[in-house]
Amino acid sequence: MDAPSTVMSIAEVEALAMSILRANGLADHQVRPIARAMAAAEASECRSHGLYRLIGYVGSIRSGRVSVAAQPRLERVAGSFLRVDGDNGLAPAAHAAGVAALIEAAKQNGIAALALTNCYHYSALWHDLDPIVDAGLACWAFTVGQCIVAPYGGNRRLMGTNPIAFGWPRAGELPFVFDFATSAVARGEIELMGRAGKALPPGWAIDAAGEPTLNAAQALAGALLPFGGHKGSALSRLVELIAGPLIGEPTSWAAAALDNGDGGPPLGGELLIAMSPAVFTSGMTHDWREQAETFFAQAREQPGVRLPSDRRHEARRRSDRNGVAVPETLLMELAGLSAG
Ligand code: NDP
Repeated sequence: MDAPSTVMSIAEVEALAMSILRANGLADHQVRPIARAMAAAEASECRSHGLYRLIGYVGSIRSGRVSVAAQPRLERVAGSFLRVDGDNGLAPAAHAAGVAALIEAAKQNGIAALALTNCYHYSALWHDLDPIVDAGLACWAFTVGQCIVAPYGGNRRLMGTNPIAFGWPRAGELPFVFDFATSAVARGEIELMGRAGKALPPGWAIDAAGEPTLNAAQALAGALLPFGGHKGSALSRLVELIAGPLIGEPTSWAAAALDNGDGGPPLGGELLIAMSPAVFTSGMTHDWREQAETFFAQAREQPGVRLPSDRRHEARRRSDRNGVAVPETLLMELAGLSAG
């Protein structure tokens, strides 16, 4: 039986997130992008990045780790490489400060990169890609997650959950976007399973002694495993390097050493790389761009195949119609966050 819940509209979810963040003293330009991302996550049934994340955000605001009045600054470092200094604030505001310039630079130059630095990131990457892909660009996004993943063959944590997302714009269709942690599962999912008293599937985690575990609390005290064995482990290392040292940010292990345990987002930026199919194919007498649509159609012909984002887009349509069911226990916990 499902836990008791209250149905809320997406606008109500966003308003609740804003009121809690404001009550904790976060500046409005920081509040709005976070609340938008959370409402979109609830609407898309990506619950581990929805209202639940307020607990961690408020933890970091109250511990003083995050600057509540941070003013992100955008800088054009060289050609089409842009950087936002997040001023020790939260990543959604840093993203909001740089995304329009990234889109413009990619449309002009074919390819552009944006590094978000000096900020704290733990929202879903697809939300960061959406405006870029909606502008007709293909885009990669990488961020270093919380340090809780053991390398393939290892017995203790060294890497973050390190998600990778890619988006491709489609003519007359919602975009193709995939977005996954390079760990077997996102850390937030383990937390939610622990709260619900559910056992983890085998192959997701090891305990503090390096032994396999199905217990969420033991996994959180030990380490998650990368997805796909040595291949996922290599991709996770790629994220550590290009969303870490390449853009002057810490690795997840170095960021963990600076964490005060307030339960909020880890220090660590994000690298976004946007590419314009129009510029990449300009001047060609024949290009194969329409093949992308044939490719998607061919995939759909096979029973059992769905495209990444199909579930999310469908959930969004449903939530726009019916609202979302938010567990009562979470709402009670959130009510305590406004009280100060
Ligand atoms: P999931 O495993 O839930 O989903 C990964 C991707 O695969 C999604 O794009 C999903 O599409 C797609 N997908 C799932 N099942 C299928 C299927 N059967 N066929 C085709 N595609 C499928 O994601 P994770 O748990 O790995 O990550 C969840 C989120 O956590 C991500 O948004 C990530 O950005 C975020 N995250 C953020 C971190 C941070 O520090 N900021 C750290 C780690 C993770 P669909 O959505 O439609 O189901």
